[in-house]
Amino acid sequence: MPAKRIAVVDRDRCNPRKCGLECIKYCPEVRMGVEDTIKLVDSTLVIDEELCTGCGICVKKCPFSAISIVNLPAPVEGEEVHRYGINGFTLFRLPVVRPKKIVGLVGPNGVGKTTSISILSGNLKPNLGRIDEEPDWEEIIKRFRGSELQEYLRRLSNGEVTVINKPERIDKIPKVVKGKVKLVLEKIDERNLLDEAIDLLSLREVLDREIKELSGGELQRVALTAAYIREGDVYVLDEPSNYLDVYQRMNAAKLIRRLQEAGRSVILVEHDLAVLDYLSDYIHVLYGEPGVYGVVSYPHSTREGINIFLDGYLPDDNVRFRDEPISFLQRVGSPDISEKIVVSYTKLAKKLNGFSLHVEEGEIHSGEVVVVVGPNGIGKTTFVRILAGELKPDDGIVLTEGVKVSYKPQHVKPTYEGTVESLLRKAAGSNYSSPYFRTEVIKRLGIEKLLDRYLDEISGGELQKVAIATCLGREADIYLIDEPSAFLDVEARFAAAKAIRRRIKGEDRAVIVVEHDLLTIEAAADRIMVFRGTPGREGHASKPMDPRKGLNIFLRDVDITFRRDPETGRPRVNKPGSKMDQLARARGRYYP
Ligand code: ADP
Ligand code: ADP
Ligand code: SF4
Repeated sequence: MPAKRIAVVDRDRCNPRKCGLECIKYCPEVRMGVEDTIKLVDSTLVIDEELCTGCGICVKKCPFSAISIVNLPAPVEGEEVHRYGINGFTLFRLPVVRPKKIVGLVGPNGVGKTTSISILSGNLKPNLGRIDEEPDWEEIIKRFRGSELQEYLRRLSNGEVTVINKPERIDKIPKVVKGKVKLVLEKIDERNLLDEAIDLLSLREVLDREIKELSGGELQRVALTAAYIREGDVYVLDEPSNYLDVYQRMNAAKLIRRLQEAGRSVILVEHDLAVLDYLSDYIHVLYGEPGVYGVVSYPHSTREGINIFLDGYLPDDNVRFRDEPISFLQRVGSPDISEKIVVSYTKLAKKLNGFSLHVEEGEIHSGEVVVVVGPNGIGKTTFVRILAGELKPDDGIVLTEGVKVSYKPQHVKPTYEGTVESLLRKAAGSNYSSPYFRTEVIKRLGIEKLLDRYLDEISGGELQKVAIATCLGREADIYLIDEPSAFLDVEARFAAAKAIRRRIKGEDRAVIVVEHDLLTIEAAADRIMVFRGTPGREGHASKPMDPRKGLNIFLRDVDITFRRDPETGRPRVNKPGSKMDQLARARGRYYP
């Protein structure tokens, strides 16, 4: 039995001056005379959760889709930790911070990861869901009596915990931090570890550059270094893998481990499941309704936590939070790949500003997804742009005559001035109403709620989803999709991989994807192209090959080995030097 209902009004969307107040007019309770159920208070729509019966009529009547009425899962009643204002998002429970441990948080965007870490960082004082009469620290601590968090919150409220943050939105850093990288970092080297971090994250080359000149990957590594070298008790690292290639992710992971080895606690929010799995000592799964409510699960062992997340069912709360599990059934060959060739190219060569790229000849068949892997700066995007016809090779020929290409660039910008729906209709034409586009793209990627929004009002993750949808909507023979998982949460990464695969199922089309997230690579790939060489100087691209063979070559270069989880079949990184790691290396099987 559902316990309690909450009513949430999205204040950015609710516009009582323009909507005609249909929600109030049609509410059966108001019509029966219970006028306080839903009303305007100082021009703000307020829904009384005690009086509301949850019929959902206002949800349907609101022209701006601003209202949500949901039944909460029964076990969370009385566990409100924070609510953002009347009818705002509510967070239930908090993650636990343990001494000298790395806690991983996994869940979709909008269910309270940032809210949780703001509270645990001491930046947001929790109100226990009470808006009118906010509790003091004494009461808050009392609420957590008997739990592992009580002592942590007591110390936090007394200013006895120093928390160091690596924010998610590193793109905002250049607006507040100015100057040369070296000078900025030297000023905060409280632990005297700057040299160590510079070497591990390969930052020597950028030390004399200005912060504002750094690329995303460079900025991420500088931000991680800045957190690492400061003195703290707890380090909160929000999405450290963004913008990094697999090599850089593994080096960042080593740096994070060193924090733990030095006796610090770490809170890690991470959407790359291989990295999350590798680093975490235990996991909290977050679930809920994005923007409406979020629940933090009790702590689970890393393996169990990630398996629960993938399965979509949380036994502690007896809640199924996703209809479909995310599965890792290995494909053995793809029945959809035909002999028909969509694109073929001879050996290619291209020079760009001191960088040279060499590509082995290859053919892309209809019905296949070829995933391109390799470090940053090795020529992956250059290769994709040659196939897309944006760049001409210096040597070699690409046979794309008559071949229509649909391209999603790595960096997506909100240049289109209309709504999401008008952009998608324009790109997809008659495909817009096709079952594939409605179900596999718009629904699967969660774009329905964005259709009436303008591109410059949506988040980076939402923009990425729209860019993927725009690319898949176009009629084409080959789809070139550069880094689809950037800015996406785990669910959206797998949803995108599925939408991409379904686009070409049984059709005379092919896809090339550039990707750094290892589990997404596996979920998407029929074949793999491996780029090797020296980033920024020269790159060599292999022919497309069997995914296991390709990943084996790639991971040997990265110097990590994987095993498979016996229950789910998902790939897991072996701890360096562990028995499994030694065995994998001895057999030369870096990828199982
Ligand atoms: P996540 O980190 O999982 O994406 P957040 O904790 O950032 O989730 O946000 C959860 C929800 O809380 C958001 O969708 C938003 O609706 C709401 N929210 C976040 N910050 C605020 C705020 N300062 N005021 C009102 N609502 C907020
Ligand atoms: P990747 O996609 O693997 O990160 P890219 O193909 O973007 O690599 O870049 C490979 C190299 O080519 C980099 O050193 C980059 O600086 C250089 N490069 C890419 N595009 C240009 C360009 N338009 N002009 C000059 N150099 C470029
Ligand atoms: Fe009224 Fe029904 Fe909306 Fe509740 S859900 S406020 S009862 S219309």
